[in-house]
Amino acid sequence: MDTITAPATAPVRSAIAVLRISGPETKEILQRVFRGRKKQLKPRVMHFGQFIADGGILDEGLCVFFPGPASYTGEDMAELSCHGSPGVIQALLDAILEAGARMAQPGEFTRRAFLNGKLELTQAEAVIDLIDSETKAAARNAAAQLDGALGKRIDALRTELIGLSAHFGAVIDYPDDDIPEFITEHAQEVLDRVSESLRGLRESFRQGSLLRDGAVCVLAGRPNAGKSSLLNALAGEERAIVTPVPGTTRDVVEARIELGGIPVRLMDTAGLRETEDPVEKLGVERTERALRAAQLILAVYDGTEALFERDIEEIDGCPVIAVVNKEDLGVKLDVKTLKEHFRVVITVSAATGEGIDELRAAMARALRVNEIIPDGTMVTNPRQAEVLSRAYAAAKRAADALRMGMTPDMVLADSEEAVSILGELTGRSTTEDVLGAIFSRFCVGK
Ligand code: GDP
Repeated sequence: MDTITAPATAPVRSAIAVLRISGPETKEILQRVFRGRKKQLKPRVMHFGQFIADGGILDEGLCVFFPGPASYTGEDMAELSCHGSPGVIQALLDAILEAGARMAQPGEFTRRAFLNGKLELTQAEAVIDLIDSETKAAARNAAAQLDGALGKRIDALRTELIGLSAHFGAVIDYPDDDIPEFITEHAQEVLDRVSESLRGLRESFRQGSLLRDGAVCVLAGRPNAGKSSLLNALAGEERAIVTPVPGTTRDVVEARIELGGIPVRLMDTAGLRETEDPVEKLGVERTERALRAAQLILAVYDGTEALFERDIEEIDGCPVIAVVNKEDLGVKLDVKTLKEHFRVVITVSAATGEGIDELRAAMARALRVNEIIPDGTMVTNPRQAEVLSRAYAAAKRAADALRMGMTPDMVLADSEEAVSILGELTGRSTTEDVLGAIFSRFCVGK
């Protein structure tokens, strides 16, 4: 293993920057680039001193040495805090590279932590999610995943399946013996329960992905209905250009808001009006694309105008809230008919702010943000969701096979497949574990 280094902070002018080093040569490199007030670098103690580059003093700052394995990566590591000027950062980095380190690849410190068994995969993924989190809820969830909340749940399910394999493995080894009824019953109970848990975990991704990636909410409706104004009212700042000429919002204009800890991207669109104007046409195409990506649609109506049948369009699989705007001018629109088509109809005035809080509450309900519990046990990442789908399918097959009276080896094959797939989640190896569990359950002498 070689020694790697990289700045841990952004390469912009700031008060302090942190550089990291990890690998067997860490200590030697420190001796060349850091001159501490004290001769000895006590492990895990912050030392004040000078950074040395090209034989001269480059900066002064702090240095901590973490001898492995009690470090983030499990290897010898160091963190150097220097002044955050791009010049100092580059010079110190060059000095470290010259002393024998190489530039780390993206995520390489965490990768080493995983390889050295300091983290399992879901925890390594949580590190990235924690860094990327945009809201407090997302950060809390990632921190809980880093603490192992999801990994522990998955491991518990995996352990149950391994236990089952041990039972069944023993049965297959002695095919002449009848399988005791209680073993079959127990196996059925375990397989049903585990596959149900896996399905639940997989399902949690629908809401969990909102926690990590947020939701897209598209404002659709006729030109001049007040979409831009509504976007601004929701965002509480001037984001979109508002003009009284129909069709002037040609681009998709965005604003970011937060609903119950979920980042929501509001996208104001050009509307779906048929048009010959090429610029506006482009906008309509963008609108259609935005609508397909949406988790929530606000169908915005001008309350001062009559309702046309063609204005009501059902959109499959995506909740729609009908928003009747311009309440301050008096509503002439037939709200009753609208209510026949949309489950949720909210009357607002983008101009005065009337009804905007109710609209926010309705949006939060439509996105089911109350079901999002940021305790780290929801699946937030598409890789994990994909693995869980496969693990669930395998566990379900095992449960169904047993119920249909298939032979133990067939049940076992599916159950072991589920174990192996679940191993992909936390990154463990599997077959060795299965064997270990089988042998540990054997009586001595058998
Ligand atoms: P868009 O084309 O759907 O984005 O509509 P705009 O947001 O540009 O609004 C069109 C016109 O309606 C502008 O002149 C707005 O000032 C006006 N407008 C929008 N919302 C309201 C409202 O709630 N009350 C009143 N009185 N005027 C509004």
